[in-house]
Amino acid sequence: MKRLASVMLLALVNLSAQAQHRPVQVRLFWQHPPSAIRVIPERASFRACNTCPLNSLTAATEITAKASSVSAASISTPLFLLTGRVRISGNGFPPFTVEHGLRIQARDDLLLLTLTMPLEEYVTAVLQGESASLKSDEALRAMAVAARTYAVRFGSRHQLEGFDFCDTTHCQDLRLGNESPRARAAAAATEGELLWFEGRPAATYYHRSCGGEIEDASSLEPELHAPYLRRHHDDYCIRTPDEWQTEISKADLARALGQPVATVRVVARSNSGRVQRLVVNDRQISATDFRLAVGRTLGWDKLRSDLYEEEDRGDSIGFRGRGQGHGVGLCQSGAESMGEQGHSYHEILAYYYPGTAVGLNAQGLSWEKLPGESIDLISTDRSDAAVLLPAAERSLHLAMERTGWDIKARPQVKVYPTVAIYRDATGEPGWVAASTLGNVVRLQPIRTLQRTRSLDSTLRHELLHMLIEAHARPDTPLWLREGLAIYLQNPDAARPRQVDVTALERRLHSLRTEAEMRAAYRDCAATVADAVEKNGLKTVMSWLDTTR
Ligand SMILES: [Zn+2]
Ligand SMILES: [Zn+2]
Repeated sequence: MKRLASVMLLALVNLSAQAQHRPVQVRLFWQHPPSAIRVIPERASFRACNTCPLNSLTAATEITAKASSVSAASISTPLFLLTGRVRISGNGFPPFTVEHGLRIQARDDLLLLTLTMPLEEYVTAVLQGESASLKSDEALRAMAVAARTYAVRFGSRHQLEGFDFCDTTHCQDLRLGNESPRARAAAAATEGELLWFEGRPAATYYHRSCGGEIEDASSLEPELHAPYLRRHHDDYCIRTPDEWQTEISKADLARALGQPVATVRVVARSNSGRVQRLVVNDRQISATDFRLAVGRTLGWDKLRSDLYEEEDRGDSIGFRGRGQGHGVGLCQSGAESMGEQGHSYHEILAYYYPGTAVGLNAQGLSWEKLPGESIDLISTDRSDAAVLLPAAERSLHLAMERTGWDIKARPQVKVYPTVAIYRDATGEPGWVAASTLGNVVRLQPIRTLQRTRSLDSTLRHELLHMLIEAHARPDTPLWLREGLAIYLQNPDAARPRQVDVTALERRLHSLRTEAEMRAAYRDCAATVADAVEKNGLKTVMSWLDTTR
């Protein structure tokens, strides 16, 4: 996703607010690490240790593991840290693009890749991996909340290995690099929302299809206190039972189980009808072990769930079953039919996790859309509308007047209820008052902006950005975008000055502190003011889609 540096600088407080969700660390190729990859930089730099200097990576680079060091770009290093946007290709996997930070280490001639990414982008990638087939937007939103909550609740499974999540269904399956606009929209519409139970994020297990019977959580985690994960009939997916059958030869079963197979009998079932134990010849085996052994050796499409009947057919065993996955929690096939029947994602979550509450925090704050004349306000507090909608309408008209441009998509102004939630959701530090992404202006809490008397100026600046970004190209320099927004906000205050724009552009790509950002933005404004003095405003504005 393209991140625009459309941030407004203000002396905001709360630098100490604790982020609830720091960025997450995902181990790529957890089960099968590659020994070599090819990295094609789009805009990237690297360093060879945490404190080493940053070098830009300009050409495609082969990265290989040699024992426990990484060779790349004619260096050999224990640790290779990539930042920026790169395309990764290699043998045995389709190429994909990653952003943010990628940490590459070698162990035993294999490359260990750990990607650092914002939680919301992780959720989008999980939706692409686990739920790409869902057609209902409400079902996809329900899944976004379930996947986010699952991540927050179970984020410590790989702590000892030094990362948060693996990239398989052990944690949650994810697909990086070609997330659909629908997956992004579902994550954005539910941004930061979790499912809560007794003041704690719920254990939001989910699966592909329950076959009509939701399973009790005790089948997965006997110790779990989760009354919202009880066995029940699924009234929604029972109309489209997901039936399957398969026949496996006794010879193949013997190969999977590592022992000769004469007979296979189910001897214990759970209340939902799922197989718990089988007897193979005269040896007991759990249904999970049986299914995993068959899956690993013969393919995961053979036994798709534990909800089946077995039949001895002489040389083979026939299985007739329903559903896919463990059957606990949210059933995606049922959620899909609930969505198609017009149920909201709140209703879907309430059906599959009864007794829980959706909210940005345990107190149950959740997003509400409050429409104005030409702008929508997204807030957790209806009373924000009285102050914010008139201010936003005023600012939008001013921005349209100053640029002479029309809006392309109806703007949304999203107000975060606390600075901590704002920081977690946007990834911006607490001293950045607002940022704009597409047609959405994301604002710190109104009270914070009012305290620093910056609500109006922030809205003007961000709505100017929205118009400017809509007229810019992806490679339009940041100094021009930022400088124009500041200049147009208050042309009378312009202080023209000549600045080295190449150096300024480089600074804008690596802002780390409030002071650096303030200084750089002042220089952007001075550069644009200087250009306007020499060329006129119309010409400078036309540079947005001509200057590289
Ligand atoms: Zn895992
Ligand atoms: Zn179901």
